[in-house]
Amino acid sequence: EDGRNTYRFFEQDMGTAVNDRRELITDLRTAVANGELELYFQPQYTLVDDRVSGFEALVRWNHPTRGMVSPADFIPLAEDTGLIIQLGEWVLKEACRIASNWPDHLRIAVNLSPRQLRGHAFGPVLIDALTQTGLKADRLELEVTESVLLTDSEDVLDSLRQAKSLGVKVSMDDFGTGYSSLSYLRRFPFDKIKIDQSFVRSMAYSDDSISIVKAVIELANNLNMTTTAEGVETKQLLDMLTEIGCTEAQGYYLGRPMPVASTEELIYAGERS
Ligand code: C2E
Ligand code: CA
Ligand code: CA
Ligand code: CA
Repeated sequence: EDGRNTYRFFEQDMGTAVNDRRELITDLRTAVANGELELYFQPQYTLVDDRVSGFEALVRWNHPTRGMVSPADFIPLAEDTGLIIQLGEWVLKEACRIASNWPDHLRIAVNLSPRQLRGHAFGPVLIDALTQTGLKADRLELEVTESVLLTDSEDVLDSLRQAKSLGVKVSMDDFGTGYSSLSYLRRFPFDKIKIDQSFVRSMAYSDDSISIVKAVIELANNLNMTTTAEGVETKQLLDMLTEIGCTEAQGYYLGRPMPVASTEELIYAGERS
């Protein structure tokens, strides 16, 4: 989680780090152009009945010499260089394509970077992704962090409104980690709040954290939004979240991000074992 805005390789020697970054950008460009990226899928479970309700698509880069590079490291690079537009379009289409092969009740959640929503290019990309794959709009969820709304730009809101008018769901990701999560709830009618893993994890030892998560769930209910708890790593947390009425949960205890082949097993095996 901390890796999100940090380039870990900067911690080495600064000179090497800059070259490293340059090299990584070149490689990323090739990777995007040659389709060397892959999507992994992390299951999300509905807590009332313990069933898989959908998956979050998480991009992976298997670098020829560096091995697996974390999206926490290469997404910021893609954002800085503008490559995120091409990368994000690929992720969206690939995620819709894969999900279109799943049973109809399963949804697919896709992460979006702010840059993808600026200007007026996103609407057509979204419509293409849906029509080309035949995925029903209400099976797609777009996850945005509040940094998306920070830009205060009308085209970003327009893009999200257009998505909603098509029937696509919009979720607020990493809720509670920014400076003004609350005020963003007024600016856009999100369908879902994803409670950040830092809050979820600390519920294990902090009553205050439990109170905060309870309050977020109540707030979401009152605003007709559902809630997904992220980073659920233990049965204890899962039980707590079920008890306080969280809608869905996602985390290593329930299932790690997996390649598409493994999702089939989970989908057709039915219930969590
Ligand atoms: P995120 O959207 O908050 O995704 C959740 C991250 O938490 C994922 O890391 C996931 O593997 C990890 N995670 C899930 N359950 C647990 C758990 O129980 N414990 C712990 N410790 N971690 C858990 P990942 O896959 O490394 O992705 C990191 C971030 O990179 C994502 O955070 C998201 O912001 C970004 N990202 C990933 N794929 C995409 C993409 O296709 N587009 C964009 N724009 N960003 C992406
Ligand atoms: Ca996410
Ligand atoms: Ca998140
Ligand atoms: Ca996060």
